[in-house]
Amino acid sequence: MANFTLPPMPYPYDALEPHIDARTMEIHHTKHHQAYTDGLNKALGNLGPEWQNKSDVVEILKSIDSVPENARGAVNFHGGGYNNHTLFWNSMKKGGGGEPSGEIADAIKKAFGSFSDFKTKFSQDSTTLQGSGWGWLVKNASGGVQFTTMPNQSSVWTRFNKEKLAPLLGLDVWEHAYYLKYQNKRADYVAAWWNVVNWDEVGKRFK
Ligand code: MN
Repeated sequence: MANFTLPPMPYPYDALEPHIDARTMEIHHTKHHQAYTDGLNKALGNLGPEWQNKSDVVEILKSIDSVPENARGAVNFHGGGYNNHTLFWNSMKKGGGGEPSGEIADAIKKAFGSFSDFKTKFSQDSTTLQGSGWGWLVKNASGGVQFTTMPNQSSVWTRFNKEKLAPLLGLDVWEHAYYLKYQNKRADYVAAWWNVVNWDEVGKRFK
């Protein structure tokens, strides 16, 4: 039986107030992230031991094309959701925000012109993404960075083998991420989120 467990939050639920409220964080972690965890275990439970015994979700997501067809959609969705949310919690912190420094800052300037242009592009494309999904800053095959969106819970790692894309900084724009506080105003949630971005963590991922 696959045995993935809900990763603990790296900070209290109220740490990101007032930008992201405690109630949203608690539900998001204990209900939504838990559901992806359970869903991943269930989906892998339909497969043979070679899949059930895997303990590295990134390895599973990278080889999504090899997952038997009867479980591939569920593994893609729940495995993606499982890993996306772990990355999400750890790419935010109390007192975050500001601008990155070092190699990640240089890569962003090279790809987007300036940090401000990057922020505009990331915000606009995440806000206008139709339905549910994520906006991502990713590392690409040439060692630089680019922006992409992913639908639903699909993981950037599923594009690693073919395109060499790796996730750096993701923004969850599912309504469950912001509806309690921001209702239909996704743009306000996106604008507030920049205040909690943990650029040190993103810089480490880039390296
Ligand atoms: Mn979510």
